[in-house]
Amino acid sequence: MRLTGCNLRCSWCDSEYTFTGGQRRTVEEVVEEVEQLSPGGGLVEITGGEPMLQEREVVPLMQRLVDRGYTLLLETSGERPLQRVPARVIKIVDVKCPNSGEPGTFDMENLEVLNRPDEVKFVLSDREDYEFARDFVARHNLNHRVNAVLFSPAFSKDANGTRDTSHCLLDPRELADWMLADAVPARLGLQIHKFIWDPALKGV
Ligand code: SF4
Repeated sequence: MRLTGCNLRCSWCDSEYTFTGGQRRTVEEVVEEVEQLSPGGGLVEITGGEPMLQEREVVPLMQRLVDRGYTLLLETSGERPLQRVPARVIKIVDVKCPNSGEPGTFDMENLEVLNRPDEVKFVLSDREDYEFARDFVARHNLNHRVNAVLFSPAFSKDANGTRDTSHCLLDPRELADWMLADAVPARLGLQIHKFIWDPALKGV
């Protein structure tokens, strides 16, 4: 479920098409559509854009769906307060690094509402980003707060045709070496869909 609108402008954003457009739906209509697509439960991911810009609607929507037995994932930058996100929703929080163009936007009070099933990810484009992420994880003991900490190289927005790791803004091999050298308690994650499908393809 992809919501329209974002208040950030990350330099490597791969979903700029979400900044405008979309279709207006009521919470009821969305719940009905989810139940038609996946009757009786299943996995629902809410992403954007920034879903929490529509907090007034998306919080009751999430509550309705978890009450009906769905497993909910919420992708967010953590720039908006997350205190009202229902406890059973798994938050996947993308803390912005210096070279995203949006450093310092993470609301530090959100650290207190991270739960064990949640994930925190950092999209990295160079050594400065890596050091920021490494130090953030250590300073806030992140690996003991959440289920997974992920370091992911940013992917070139211009990549098309045959894709390989040369389209990552930070060489994954180099990142792996750094993480091993520093024994960072995080997983290296590649955006595997960008390798499998054309990066411009929606819905994959
Ligand atoms: S927060 Fe997400 S949707 Fe918004 S600009 Fe950054 S990457 Fe794009």
